[in-house]
Amino acid sequence: MPQPLSTLVIGCGISGLASAIRLQEAGYRVVIHARELPPATTSNVAAALWYPYRCAPKEKALRWSKATFDELMRQHAEGAPGVVPTTFIELFDHDAPHPWWAEAVGGVERLVGEELPPGYVVGYAATVPVVETPLYLPHLVKRFESGGGVIVARELRSLAEACAECALVINCAGLGARELAADPEVFPIRGQVVRVANPGVRRALTDDEGPRRVSYTIPRQADVILGGTALPNVWDTTPDAGTTETILRHCRALEPALARAEALEVRVGLRPGRSAVRLERERVGASVVIHNYGHGGAGFTLAWGCADDVCRLARGAD
Ligand SMILES: Cc1cc2nc3c(=O)[nH]c(=O)nc-3n(C[C@H](O)[C@H](O)[C@H](O)COP(=O)(O)OP(=O)(O)OC[C@H]3O[C@@H](n4cnc5c(N)ncnc54)[C@H](O)[C@@H]3O)c2cc1C
Repeated sequence: MPQPLSTLVIGCGISGLASAIRLQEAGYRVVIHARELPPATTSNVAAALWYPYRCAPKEKALRWSKATFDELMRQHAEGAPGVVPTTFIELFDHDAPHPWWAEAVGGVERLVGEELPPGYVVGYAATVPVVETPLYLPHLVKRFESGGGVIVARELRSLAEACAECALVINCAGLGARELAADPEVFPIRGQVVRVANPGVRRALTDDEGPRRVSYTIPRQADVILGGTALPNVWDTTPDAGTTETILRHCRALEPALARAEALEVRVGLRPGRSAVRLERERVGASVVIHNYGHGGAGFTLAWGCADDVCRLARGAD
């Protein structure tokens, strides 16, 4: 019997976990090494609505996000915890064309007039998955470990360090790839979110360009995640009290059901920004590294499509 090929995945956010599970399913023996583990990763802070936001290039993002949409809907049908199909409306205060991502979700419905919150001219609605990170990430960890996967809390100082231990390394270090892969193209996009109790909100709303930009209300079972900010090159992860007030004011106006919403928790995360997601193979000494990082504001929206490509590239590396 041939031994399964072993793989070292760096990172235990959504990109690392999805890649590790896909490789495991393909017959690899997989170990994850990560500095932070759930619930301490950036992925834990995400809202996490299926929405290809602040990610590129569009053509690939469309393919990855469609594959992820289909996979998350399939996982929901199978009963995966924390994956909830939700009505989502992208709002505009001016007439706007159909969103570029519409075909990934099988089309969108154009809403106008009284179907929209006050102050908006057009909205595009679709049913998309919302992922509750406190439920879904532990579920993926469990799924990976019950398949024989091992997770080690460990900081790597270089790719060479990982390559000295394994012939196939998957780099899912998110923002950490800036140093790990010596890639200055990776930059933080600071996001602050406020968690409030859910008074019965069932639809997700976003206004990225209009009067309240950047604002979003993403309902989960017991709470609603309110955003937000998207500040490029800001590294500060301390919540800002003024920003919290602005988020609450904007979101109470956006979703009238939240008129009396009060903050239960405020969190800040640094999205791993990049001009384009880096998903490619590189030879480092005698090893092969597959990079999978730079997903911007869309790690949950691209994860399973990207993980499929990681697997394809890995097979080419056999
Ligand atoms: C406020 C906010 C809201 C968001 N909302 C959404 C949303 O609605 N929908 C959506 O799709 N996305 C959303 N995102 C974006 C999403 O969170 C990210 O794109 C995603 O988390 C990136 O996942 P990742 O696994 O690549 O990186 P991360 O989750 O950052 O994981 C990186 C992993 O690599 C490890 N690592 C890094 N460097 C090293 C090292 N040197 N050695 C060892 N390990 C290392 C880390 O410890 C961690 O385990 C949001 C983000 C924020 C901040």
